[in-house]
Amino acid sequence: MTSERFDAVVLGAGFAGLSAAAVLADRGCRVLVLEASSRLGGRAASFRDGATGEQVDNGQHVLFGCYHETRRFLDRIGAAGGLRVAADLDVVSVTPEGESTRFICPSLPPPFNLLAGVLEWRALAWRDRLAVLRLAGPLRLARRELLGGDVCATSAGETVTGWLTRHGQTARIRELLWDPLALAALNQSPDVAAAPTFVRALAMMTGSSCSDAAVALPLLPLRDLYAEPARRFIEARGGEVRLTTAGRLRLDQGRVVGVDAGAVRVETAVAISAVPWFALAGLFGDRPPEEMGMTCQNAGQMESSPIVTVNLWLDRPVLDRSFVGLPGRSMQWVFDKGQIFGGTASYLSLVSSGASDLTSASTDTLIALATDEIRSAFPAGVEAVITRATVVREPRATFSLAPGQPSRPGTETPLDGLFLAGDWTDTGLPATIEGAVQSGHLAAVATLAYLHVAG
Ligand SMILES: Cc1cc2nc3c(=O)[nH]c(=O)nc-3n(C[C@H](O)[C@H](O)[C@H](O)COP(=O)(O)OP(=O)(O)OC[C@H]3O[C@@H](n4cnc5c(N)ncnc54)[C@H](O)[C@@H]3O)c2cc1C
Repeated sequence: MTSERFDAVVLGAGFAGLSAAAVLADRGCRVLVLEASSRLGGRAASFRDGATGEQVDNGQHVLFGCYHETRRFLDRIGAAGGLRVAADLDVVSVTPEGESTRFICPSLPPPFNLLAGVLEWRALAWRDRLAVLRLAGPLRLARRELLGGDVCATSAGETVTGWLTRHGQTARIRELLWDPLALAALNQSPDVAAAPTFVRALAMMTGSSCSDAAVALPLLPLRDLYAEPARRFIEARGGEVRLTTAGRLRLDQGRVVGVDAGAVRVETAVAISAVPWFALAGLFGDRPPEEMGMTCQNAGQMESSPIVTVNLWLDRPVLDRSFVGLPGRSMQWVFDKGQIFGGTASYLSLVSSGASDLTSASTDTLIALATDEIRSAFPAGVEAVITRATVVREPRATFSLAPGQPSRPGTETPLDGLFLAGDWTDTGLPATIEGAVQSGHLAAVATLAYLHVAG
């Protein structure tokens, strides 16, 4: 077995691991990133489509203006130009009745932008529009809670639907606005997901700028948006990123002393675990040490929620904008990758979040469902011919936010030199890119303090 030495080792090269490693490399640490899979990016990755040669994402990723940590990460690695942040929230959807409708929030300070947008929204009757005013107070409270105030915007055990109903949101405004937003943000039905994470996400979206609520779309496949730029950034600063056999921690008397990666024995005083909840226990071999027993047990008991994506290559354009909401359907959003990537891609991506009913459906069934939903929502889709179709199933896309799930761990662990990152750690956010990057940055700061590096 050969032996090498690094200041810190990061296990896992998703958003969390790469953002942590980028901070460390930037601060002069010699960092090694180990990724067990054959590609970088984890649950936000791209692969080459066998037939067309295009880089296709494992699923459409939508960011928001309020993803401040993510934007800091992209800035750091010189990749901010790959993300287009809209000025305001501006979404077109096709209602379940087939009517196309546009929800646009004017450039007013939040939350007035959101309230004014709803009051102007013609798809809603006046009763439904006025209901939004009842959220002004709860949103202000949520904002205070987000900023550290000693208040609580939700009740114990309350679901998202429970919270919305308690604050007078009608069935129609939930159907057209809140349910699609909650499903997209939480990847779980609002009837099942607990309210606090959603309310926190809403508080972030109604932050200091109206662009906090605006959609931000990657203009490149995820590999080129962040994974490869991050690798280049880390390597240019003396670090390394290796696709290798899964990393295993070596401990001595409650302290990290190294990581084994295949035939290589790496000596290090710090390891950042940036693996998902279902992979944490595997870092310790047969059995986690006693100090990590409860954390690993909780992680192992976290439930997952799936996402199914259907990609359709058509013989003609069908959408007149880059994405459209399809509330009330199995596939809640459709994205025109050709318009988003500027012609380097030629397919539509249809996303089904919280897709536990669909994961076991056959590929043919899913393609037929997506085709039907496109044809019924868009007149141009009726005559369109599908030239190719693929399905991506991500059964463990996100962790469950249902009340009663095990608690999420913080950055620090009882082991000296081991820090945790990953969207599933206790950021208070749903399983999102922003949560992953926030956790990565926290783990990097903890590592720097541990190594006594100024900064
Ligand atoms: C289809 C889909 C759509 C999504 N859409 C959105 C969206 O629109 N907006 C949004 O904000 N979020 C979205 N998400 C969620 C987002 O992708 C995740 O929250 C985020 O990517 C998680 O990053 P992470 O670094 O915490 O974990 P991961 O991306 O899971 O990275 C962990 C990495 O650790 C590696 N690993 C595991 N074990 C080991 C080991 N022993 N040694 C070395 N490496 C190991 C894994 O291979 C993996 O690459 C979506 C997720 C999916 C799947």
